[in-house]
Amino acid sequence: MSVNQGTWDLWCFDQKLIKRVRVVQRADGYYVQFCVKIDNSEQLEATGYTIGLDVGLKDFYTDSDGYSEPNPRFYRKGEKRLKFHQRRVSRKKKGSTNRKKAINRLGRTHLKISRQREEHAKILARCVIRSNDLVAYEDLRVKNLVKNHCLAKSINDAGWYKFREWLEHFGTKFGRITVAVNPAYTSQNCSSCGEVVKKSLSTRTHVCKCGCQLDRDHNAAINILTRALGTVGHTGTYQNARGDSTSTLLGSDLVEQVGSLNRESPGISAMGSVKLVYISFVQK
Ligand SMILES: [Zn+2]
Repeated sequence: MSVNQGTWDLWCFDQKLIKRVRVVQRADGYYVQFCVKIDNSEQLEATGYTIGLDVGLKDFYTDSDGYSEPNPRFYRKGEKRLKFHQRRVSRKKKGSTNRKKAINRLGRTHLKISRQREEHAKILARCVIRSNDLVAYEDLRVKNLVKNHCLAKSINDAGWYKFREWLEHFGTKFGRITVAVNPAYTSQNCSSCGEVVKKSLSTRTHVCKCGCQLDRDHNAAINILTRALGTVGHTGTYQNARGDSTSTLLGSDLVEQVGSLNRESPGISAMGSVKLVYISFVQK
């Protein structure tokens, strides 16, 4: 049995700061998670930039400046590898040692891909948060996706949810604003004049009577940013006037943000004062 040390050095923390310990089993071994209460927030200078992100069908996201972040190549490569190992499992005799081995290989492949996604989402989110004072994105939930009949979008979902969690984590850590806006009509409305320009999923360009012509996702990203800025600007009054925080757009955003902070990882560390420490015991 070999022991691998995790990301953080556990021994430099006071024992009283360790709030929780969990043993987690993964395809490649056992992990011990230590939840440590420390302050890891960091104040950065304001950048003067705000940004809206639209999750596209083709790209990982398109921002309100028109920049498109491509999907990482391991997304497609990983899918192929998964299929390969899946086939190997199904070809082995049920209950055989070889099948068990193949299942373990499949599990490890799954694990590798999800770690790659996690790492990609983390690096990207950190970069976006550090270079903007406010980051806006759609409040996409499974419910919304089903309602929109936009199933193709779900391809990127796993990666996108990770990305969003990391955005909120780094937003808290670096003192930046993250806003999840209502995704309704962000792709249909004209970002220049507000007119509704109906388009199907295959229409890649937004063309409006007002003369505005933009890439479909770029137009949506601008709408997302505009909506976020409007929401943030009306914080107090809107909520007080209604007296009902959960039914308002802003209220639901806040509830959603708090909700995701309560989740395990990276939510736990998103509290700004809690850090996860991993120590793994990998079995040969
Ligand atoms: Zn227009």
